Amino acid sequence: MKKSTLIICLFVTGFTISCGWVQEDKTGFQTEPAESIVEKILEDPVNADTIEVALVEKTEEEWRSILTPEEFHILREDGTEPAFANAYYDNKEEGIYYCGACGLPIYSSKTKFDSGTGWPSFWAPIDPKLVKRGLDERSGMERTEVVCAQCDSHLGHIFPYPGVPTEERHCLNSLALDFKPQDI
Ligand SMILES: [Zn+2]
Repeated sequence: MKKSTLIICLFVTGFTISCGWVQEDKTGFQTEPAESIVEKILEDPVNADTIEVALVEKTEEEWRSILTPEEFHILREDGTEPAFANAYYDNKEEGIYYCGACGLPIYSSKTKFDSGTGWPSFWAPIDPKLVKRGLDERSGMERTEVVCAQCDSHLGHIFPYPGVPTEERHCLNSLALDFKPQDI
């Protein structure tokens, strides 16, 4: 474990113990294993070592003041937008996808692929440290939910998907993302 990662972990752990989470159901969420094959496969479109992950915590009122009602529903109330009626499912531009709540760069066009599902789909984040995953049983079935590592905002779910390098598909909501074109 890198020193910087250790510091982040200690900070997050300490903060959790002292302050608790705004969203209680995200308590058990964890980042992906550091030995993820993603790191070996992906040519970094941005240098992940330069991306600092710091805890971002706001009140519901503060989130409502910076997000549209639609964004708030997806990001802070774990909503799902309609398939094929969202901004990025068919976006083929090169660039970076940022968390729509806190602005952390989390996915890139390098790992985006056409899943045919109607939602933007990626086979990996830019770096495993940038997202957390946990069990979601809210809909009566077990699914893996993926949230932003920095602000715990809901991004979407992760499903098995044979045929891509990680054999998994990060099925995200466009409203949870901000895309900025960039040559990568
Ligand atoms: Zn975020």
